[in-house]
Amino acid sequence: MSLEGRVALVTGGSRGIGRAIVEALAADGAKVAFVYNSNSAAADDVVRSLKENGHEVMAIQADVRSKEAADKTVAAVVEAFGSLDILVNNAGIVKDDLLLRMTPEKWQDVIDTNLTSVFNFCQAATQQMMSQRYGRIINMSSVAADVSNPGQANYAASKGGVEGFTRCVATELAKRNITANAVAPGFIETDMTEAVVGSFGKEIKKKIPVRRLGQPSDIANAVLFFAQEASSYVTGQILKVDGGLTLGGI
Ligand code: NAP
Repeated sequence: MSLEGRVALVTGGSRGIGRAIVEALAADGAKVAFVYNSNSAAADDVVRSLKENGHEVMAIQADVRSKEAADKTVAAVVEAFGSLDILVNNAGIVKDDLLLRMTPEKWQDVIDTNLTSVFNFCQAATQQMMSQRYGRIINMSSVAADVSNPGQANYAASKGGVEGFTRCVATELAKRNITANAVAPGFIETDMTEAVVGSFGKEIKKKIPVRRLGQPSDIANAVLFFAQEASSYVTGQILKVDGGLTLGGI
């Protein structure tokens, strides 16, 4: 277990991709804290199942849109586990609508949850990581940053922002032994994609060269690579994990 002794914080760790990331980091030996927003039953289930298997895990209710909540969360993790080595900014939402119908609230909520949250938690965590002279930051983007569908202007803008942010802070933090990378998933089977997969699953699969939808564990495996000490020479990178969806073949 190569993450033995490391402490990780995952936002949106109670369901979907975030839950798989929490489980993968814990299985590799890390102590893991995760943030959820409102679904405490899902969060309790993650804690119970990991504790049953002997892992050190902690759930924290916090709204990632709040800077104050991010600062308090990071302080609580350091207090409980003694350090913070790995930050995974995974929490995210969709609120799709065509430009002409998109309300300012839908725009702002997606930008705040998917992008401002990354600023909030990176700023809070890097103070601790700088003092340790060690850190691994992994941000969740999406192929939607590159390839667009109608109705996702807010989501595409938020994920494009995450990618630019990641490259910039990678240059700022490199000399402190802190890397920052992003993972850009394609279609992954979670609550977020349930409706679209239910309606268009067959058509979507035909467009994916590996001919299957992604699973949360496919994304967790990529996060695990960036979380390792051994990935220290990789920073500012965006790794697409999409079964070849964006390769543009026929
Ligand atoms: P999901 O199943 O809907 O889970 C979202 C998670 O984020 C939940 O744990 C939720 O907590 C948390 N969350 C949402 N808003 C929050 C807030 N304001 N404060 C704190 N936590 C909040 O989503 P997912 O499909 O796993 O997606 C995870 C990430 O991957 C997102 O950034 C998404 O954009 C990205 N992504 C997903 C796909 C895909 O195909 N699924 C593709 C590309 C990128 P509660 O349960 O408490 O609400």
